[in-house]
Amino acid sequence: MTNVLVVGTQWGDEGKGKVVDLLTPAFDVVARYQGGHNAGHTVYAGGRKIVLHLIPSGILRPGTLCVIGNGLVVSPAAFLKEKSDLAALGVRIDPENLAVSRRAHLIMPYHPVLEKIDEDRRGEGKIGTTCRGIGPAYEDKAARRGVRAGDLLDLDVLREMIRERVAFHNEAIRLHGLPPLDPEDVFAEYERYAAAMAPFIKDTSLLLDREIKSGKAVLFEGAQGVLLDLDHGTYPFVTSSSASAGGAATGLGVGPREIHFSLGVVKAYTTRVGSGPFPTELNDELGKRIAEGGDEFGATTGRPRRCGWFDAVAVSYACRVNGIDRLALTKPDVLEEFDEIRICTGYRYKGERLPAFPAEPWILDKVEPEYRTLRGWRNSVRKARDFAALPAAFKDYVRTIEDLVGAEVALVSTGVDRDDTIFLEDRWPSGVRLDRVKAALGR
Ligand code: GDP
Repeated sequence: MTNVLVVGTQWGDEGKGKVVDLLTPAFDVVARYQGGHNAGHTVYAGGRKIVLHLIPSGILRPGTLCVIGNGLVVSPAAFLKEKSDLAALGVRIDPENLAVSRRAHLIMPYHPVLEKIDEDRRGEGKIGTTCRGIGPAYEDKAARRGVRAGDLLDLDVLREMIRERVAFHNEAIRLHGLPPLDPEDVFAEYERYAAAMAPFIKDTSLLLDREIKSGKAVLFEGAQGVLLDLDHGTYPFVTSSSASAGGAATGLGVGPREIHFSLGVVKAYTTRVGSGPFPTELNDELGKRIAEGGDEFGATTGRPRRCGWFDAVAVSYACRVNGIDRLALTKPDVLEEFDEIRICTGYRYKGERLPAFPAEPWILDKVEPEYRTLRGWRNSVRKARDFAALPAAFKDYVRTIEDLVGAEVALVSTGVDRDDTIFLEDRWPSGVRLDRVKAALGR
């Protein structure tokens, strides 16, 4: 069996949710490894729009075991709400098909309060986070004062922990003139969550090990994208976790050799949510056209996304950092009305061409992108099945991207529906059961 990692190669929102949902029939397990309920995947299944935040997109396919790994931070309230929202849509969720790691850290009521304080203090330099407490929960994890899902399993331990953590954070909350939290209220709230979540809380590293040893195929699901990775992203305008490929091993407690094939999801243009440098950003009518055509509004927050041309410097960096084997190219249909399409091929900084994607945001902020202009394809790529039959200008576009970023495209998504997909079958390892994916599509 070939285990596949699906990871974003830009600033998130590349369409990972669609790709994961589409490929799920080829896998027995879908395991997510980082982030929190700030991540949003939009999936169109059976004519319905479904937005997932915390629960892996694999949940929409009956018979798939979904894992929320230790690398995530879990808001019990958000988890339970998402679970009941999905149940209301007829999605079956029970401890048989969904497991939450005992080692996953919990978002506590003080975390959103602390995040809002931090963002307000940064003023102009704010990160533009969703203020859902995700960053502070990861801070507490690193500071070794987190509360983990497994701690919900012993209420005496939980009560003591909450008493201690609330007293600690109340000091900062008071300092900023905000009302302190009552530890007994927090405990009462989390005691309720404990009862509802307990059946789902498991040693998911052990669970995955057993699944893998019994010959099951695993899809590792990334959230956000490598340019938002805490280490490799455009720091400090990043998320607080390891969104890149390496995060899959630590975020799930599996050995890195269990990741057999890395599929990088890449959008035909670039978007970014929140603050931070964005060299190919289009602050003009073209940018607006892309945003409208691509429906570029956050799935979780509704925030409009910043849009710009495809940035091959950034994506080739992402391919290197993630060890990408192949690409899944999404949303080229959004560009089909354009006569000309540009691709950023290099950055100039102080008159010199930079050899690679820079580490410092203050350099990235000042680079001048160099562009190659390509002909638009002007034909509809939607509903196409055969890559070879696509317009020559579109194939040129794909080849140019492949050459510049150093990875071949194995899948092209041409619309929101599962069926709006072209497979380049010879570019997939034989251990991926693409026949099942195609059978699920009725092909
Ligand atoms: P994710 O977090 O990477 O899954 O991305 P989001 O769900 O935030 O954003 C991707 C959006 O693009 C979703 O609304 C998808 O339904 C949509 N989408 C995915 N693939 C395609 C595609 O090929 N064409 C178009 N037009 N939309 C797509």
